[in-house]
Amino acid sequence: MSGLRVLGSTSGLVPGDRFCTSLVVNIGDGVVVLDAGAPLATLLPQAGIEFSAIRALLLTHWHADHSAGLPLLLQRLWLHNAITAPKQGTPPVIIPLYGPPLSAYRLDLLRSFYLLPFDEVLRRDIFPLPVTDMAPDELIDLGGGASASMYLTTHWTHAHAQRLINENFGVPPVGYGIRMVAGGHTLVYSGDAGSPEDCRPYLAGADLLVHELGHFHAGEVALVAKDAGVPRLLLVHLSEEYHGDIGADRALSEARSAGYHGEVIVANDGLEVPF
Ligand SMILES: [Zn+2]
Repeated sequence: MSGLRVLGSTSGLVPGDRFCTSLVVNIGDGVVVLDAGAPLATLLPQAGIEFSAIRALLLTHWHADHSAGLPLLLQRLWLHNAITAPKQGTPPVIIPLYGPPLSAYRLDLLRSFYLLPFDEVLRRDIFPLPVTDMAPDELIDLGGGASASMYLTTHWTHAHAQRLINENFGVPPVGYGIRMVAGGHTLVYSGDAGSPEDCRPYLAGADLLVHELGHFHAGEVALVAKDAGVPRLLLVHLSEEYHGDIGADRALSEARSAGYHGEVIVANDGLEVPF
């Protein structure tokens, strides 16, 4: 696989024929996974991606349409490291996970909620998903010259964030977008945005904007891509109106009406986007 592969392409209003958001980006000697829509532990091997080839998993926020693949991935890797790897004589698989503040705490809650007894069964130092809570714009070195950083979105507006303080252990929740550089190629992934404007400050020099259409129309997103001079637009996290051939035509025609003349790609599960 070169470039990017879409594992799941729908928004949280899940239909019967698409999975939730997850993307895989090739970085040369491995891949990086962006978001963890379910069923990630199945979709990765189905796409021919070895767990050992995953250099990092970047999580934009904790809504289930971006994170529900994590518990089963955690269990899958636990079993791999406890049973398969020792049998094969291969090293344990360890995938660094990067996410918004409190991600480490939330993953620990999942570990406990799903009764995954790493401390008793495995040494803590081969826990397969070590988590780093990221500050905005902090740099992640992905190896081989690839890097990424996460920027704040307004997915949780101030009012919504205040309302969710109790659910977020006393602080307002944070949602991120991602800017990533690999093989001389720069992509920006919106995560879930509060506005298509959220990504604008991060688009300078970007070759590809990967933007969600769960909350916006394609024209609004294309306008931002046009203003920033981004030559390619991949539309993901699609609301139902953008599914199928008719939906793809709608997205293209809205983008053209907004004056965007770059390449417009509307995601399907399994779609590969070369770069
Ligand atoms: Zn979402």
